[in-house]
Amino acid sequence: MKNLLFIVIFLISLISQAQQNSFGLEFNTNFHSKTKNEYLSIKHLIQTDKEYQFITISAYTFNKSENAHFYYRTSINGNWSSWDELTEDIESQTPDRKSYHFKHIYDTIDTIQFKANKLTTESINFRLFFSIEDETSNILNPKDILNCELPNYCDRLCWCPSGNCPQQTNPTYTNPTHIIVHHSATNYGSGTNYALVVQSYWDYHVNNHGWSDIGYNWLVDPNGIIYEGRGDGVQGAHFSCMNSGTMGVCVIGNFESATPTYETISALENLIAWEATDKEIDVVTTHYHQASQLDLYGISGHRDSNSSTQGCPSGTVCPGANLYSLLPDIRSDVSDFPCYVSANVIDNLDLSNFLKVYPNPTFDITNIENSGNSSIKEVSIYNSLGIKIKKIYPITNTISFTNFSSGLYFVKVLDSENRTATIKLVKE
Ligand SMILES: [Zn+2]
Repeated sequence: MKNLLFIVIFLISLISQAQQNSFGLEFNTNFHSKTKNEYLSIKHLIQTDKEYQFITISAYTFNKSENAHFYYRTSINGNWSSWDELTEDIESQTPDRKSYHFKHIYDTIDTIQFKANKLTTESINFRLFFSIEDETSNILNPKDILNCELPNYCDRLCWCPSGNCPQQTNPTYTNPTHIIVHHSATNYGSGTNYALVVQSYWDYHVNNHGWSDIGYNWLVDPNGIIYEGRGDGVQGAHFSCMNSGTMGVCVIGNFESATPTYETISALENLIAWEATDKEIDVVTTHYHQASQLDLYGISGHRDSNSSTQGCPSGTVCPGANLYSLLPDIRSDVSDFPCYVSANVIDNLDLSNFLKVYPNPTFDITNIENSGNSSIKEVSIYNSLGIKIKKIYPITNTISFTNFSSGLYFVKVLDSENRTATIKLVKE
């Protein structure tokens, strides 16, 4: 009897323990006919005593050619919401199933019901993920450090302190040649806990899509906080089944409608600058991407995959018009980071070998001698903090440092064949 009591107490504590953190519920639902074009599920009771921040609702079916439309509605104390449709997720494809893009429910609910516009041949799985704030949640403050170090980020234990969002056990590694920018296609209100949003994406990718882990390598929220997804060097699931040779970063928001914040772009650029210098990715020009067989910019958007005949291109608009149109500025900004300049990512060896800068260190005048066949078109000077301080279109190859204070500078040379090389120069 004592043992039985102990087991009962243990079970109760196990259940309440499980509900202290975010958790998922799945409904494998059958529909019954109501009217000609309306097939309803039973009303499912939602029972949780824990206060959740929001619910993420999504759906999937193993019938890839399913063409029914699916809707859900919720109620609290018998007051029903209107029906809301779950539409096909055209941004993340999964070979064995068809997924329906998630939506978030912010209201407290006690019942949910599903509806289809026709009978389905295979049952459909509706997934509800309840985001519950963990007391040990550790949210980082936004940081604004401009360098090519890996910026501070919220790692998996930070956004999922319960340990219920594990990393995949056997990751595939890849050497990125391209950085792919995404959006999550969902906007959030002020005061949102984005660690919980990242948890909900992990659940959506793993338990709804059936992937091994959250699809992206990194995520950035509107406050400029960076979250580690699959992390550095791991092949993700984000670029329309052509993920080899890519790093995927998801900017949280819907940039078809919203505009990314300054903090977001700043964090995104810092993250990209680190990745570009770490993997020696030229962010400015296009180069060949093996898996898609396309010439793509070093920083590309998900939608740039649409013209590929490989993989599973989907006609996605990701990362949204208002973020996609910023990619040229992001390429240009990152290429001006002093750490990017000094890392010589895009230095052309032919040009570097032909250039001679003397004297170095210099007091006032320095000469740039080019023994190759090209001419010097443009010279940019950056200070040690990486800020571009002067751009010169030299008639002669003599640069004056007379009015510069003493210290370290970077001299970036562009020649008539559009090759660049960067030289460290000390002004005494
Ligand atoms: Zn995308």
